Amino acid sequence: MSLATENISSLRTRLVAGEIRAREIVDALGAAIEEKDGEIGGYLAADLERARQDADTADLEKPLGGIPIALKDNINLAGAQCTCGSRFLEEGYLSPYDATVTTRLKQAGAILFGRTNLDEFAMGSSTENSALQVTRNPHDLTRIPGGSSGGSAAVVAADTAIASLGSDTGGSIRQPASHCGVVGLKPSYGRVSRYGLVAFASSLDQIGPLTKTVEDAATLLEVIAGPDPRDSTCLDEPVAPCHPSLHDGVAGLKLGIPREYFGEGLDPAVRERVEAAIKALEGEGAELVEISLPSTDAAVATYYIIAPAEASSNLSRFDGVRYGHRAENPGDILDMYRQSRAGGFGPEVKRRIILGTYVLSSGYYDAYYTRAQKVRTLIQREFQSAFASVDAILAPVSPAPARKIGAAENDPLQDYLADIYTISANLAGICGLSVPCGTVPGDDGSALPVGLQVLGPHLAEATILRVARAWEITRERA
Ligand code: GLN
Repeated sequence: MSLATENISSLRTRLVAGEIRAREIVDALGAAIEEKDGEIGGYLAADLERARQDADTADLEKPLGGIPIALKDNINLAGAQCTCGSRFLEEGYLSPYDATVTTRLKQAGAILFGRTNLDEFAMGSSTENSALQVTRNPHDLTRIPGGSSGGSAAVVAADTAIASLGSDTGGSIRQPASHCGVVGLKPSYGRVSRYGLVAFASSLDQIGPLTKTVEDAATLLEVIAGPDPRDSTCLDEPVAPCHPSLHDGVAGLKLGIPREYFGEGLDPAVRERVEAAIKALEGEGAELVEISLPSTDAAVATYYIIAPAEASSNLSRFDGVRYGHRAENPGDILDMYRQSRAGGFGPEVKRRIILGTYVLSSGYYDAYYTRAQKVRTLIQREFQSAFASVDAILAPVSPAPARKIGAAENDPLQDYLADIYTISANLAGICGLSVPCGTVPGDDGSALPVGLQVLGPHLAEATILRVARAWEITRERA
């Protein structure tokens, strides 16, 4: 079997034992990319030459020594393109520096060579908003991989990567992980530095891993997490390791089942898979507790005010002056801004900027933005009071399995509404993950992955990884 199908921990064991060399992993990935990525379209760029050089000098003593990791194309890697899936940055922009997560991966010995596709500036849930290419779900090529980290999920699922990083503002790690059948972790707000992540909505954005196993997610989290003076929102607290409690099981843990996450709109087949996983965890000794998060139905509206508001401000830096695309022969400077932005941004990004500018404008600010912030506080408090009585919360990730490519054309609301189970975690700043919990039948004989979502209190990554690992063990036994 190709080394490309293996995970971080199995490859590390074999590298350290001297059984394989890092270059063989890179070669195996190169062959897998050659064979499959033409169809899947997960990578925007893969510099295998650079990877081979790094493989030959890899320090195997380090925790990720010799392991290639793919990066979502909104995370800066010095000297490489960072397109954010946008025409704006497609030409003429090379990252001038490494993101903090990039630096940490390098320091841990990882090989960084691949850049994965995403919805433009991470806005979307399907990766169809990428201005550069289509990414297909490896389990069914007629379907979306999810988004916005669709490329990062697809390459891990297709075994064209060992693991990757994505970013999650409203579900963009967990939802594609769910649709592609891989593990995806959104750390708590403040756990991982966003220095060098191209900002979408700064009060919500977090970087996190997409991996083949829960253990690998714990390994990557431990490498990328921790204080960073370059990101003032990054907590100045040491990170407790997740590995020591990873295999402790769920016996004695209280797991909350939020009523509002199992209501109307949830696909019955998805519901059945998620409930089966919950029952299995009960069988392992967890105590299930029914809970209520009453403001869940306001979360989509709240998020789609706050996220565009912040995006409209963050994206004002793309004006033709400093980054990437600049309109040719503008009349004057205003005309240059106007034409550069009109030509550089795609339709979804324009929609968000217009929406965000509107909700922040005088006369509407209090009616929309201030009110959304109040609901955000309510959502935070509801999680806080839920976590006073439970250790973690179990829920679906997405109401339905991956839809067909093109099925939501001209209807962005359809995808916005499907974010219902993921966005509250970002609004509350808590941690969450998606772990594969089986498949449901597609319409053409395919099997479509479904994810189980595990949500935990702020900074309780070790707990949610432990719950996810317990479920993984149960599955391995079955
Ligand atoms: N689907 C959500 C959106 O379109 C979340 C995106 C994200 O997490 N980056 O905004």
